[in-house]
Amino acid sequence: MNKGEIIISVKDLKKNYGSFEAVKGISFDVYEGEIFGLLGPNGAGKSTTLEIIETLREKSSGQVMVNGFNLDKEKEKIKQIIGVQLQTSGFYPGLNLVELLVLFAGLYNQTIQPMEFLKMVNLEDKAKNKFKEMSGGQKQRFSIATTLINKPKIIFLDEPTTGLDPQARRNLWDLIKNIRQNGTTVILTTHYMDEAEQLCDRIAIMDEGKIIQLDSPDKMIDDLVATGFERPKQVKAANLEDVFIHLTGKDIRED
Ligand code: ADP
Ligand code: MG
Repeated sequence: MNKGEIIISVKDLKKNYGSFEAVKGISFDVYEGEIFGLLGPNGAGKSTTLEIIETLREKSSGQVMVNGFNLDKEKEKIKQIIGVQLQTSGFYPGLNLVELLVLFAGLYNQTIQPMEFLKMVNLEDKAKNKFKEMSGGQKQRFSIATTLINKPKIIFLDEPTTGLDPQARRNLWDLIKNIRQNGTTVILTTHYMDEAEQLCDRIAIMDEGKIIQLDSPDKMIDDLVATGFERPKQVKAANLEDVFIHLTGKDIRED
């Protein structure tokens, strides 16, 4: 993949909650058109960092530029070019998927073809269903569709595959790859290393509010191997997840 221009630039970003330093001066750039992963244990500061860039949380200090807009002065401009996954509690229980899409489009001042969005995430069959009537994977696909309503340049996905079964995760990987293929930059967090390896062009590993490593997954693995690291046990040609996928199928399943 060709590296694009820098679309997000974060410099010495800090966030304190009272006397607690959740983010301790991190700096990183995200390139246009890449899938950028933020990894790290619970409490590392990933969501805090994303929400600051998404304009949803105030930073304590540091500089953030998004698509050339300064977070301090041009929040509204940033909001117009990003897509953020809403908390699912925002999905009014009485409305079906088409009605929800129309409602969200209205909030963004957009007119959309709801069925096109549902088709994109393979949920045309569920057009008349309510959000609560869908499976975990379907809910995630729908909430990703809602991030695309304002045709954003960047979307933010905070743990989009947590709690999903292996097929549903793979469906979501395909969807995220498609979204990137269509030119949208993707920033995501995940606790699944196979997912980060599959999806992300580059990842930043955070721990206790700091970025401790930033590179492509491939480079990080090569660097570790170069230190003489070896896996303690010879790995078999397949693992249990391969068995599961092989037995239950990938595409045929309506997750
Ligand atoms: P992650 O997404 O990596 O799990 P978070 O950004 O959610 O981490 O949280 C980072 C740290 O900041 C955690 O220790 C968390 O408890 C703390 N924290 C997050 N939000 C708040 C808040 N609103 N008030 C106080 N502490 C918070
Ligand atoms: Mg989080």
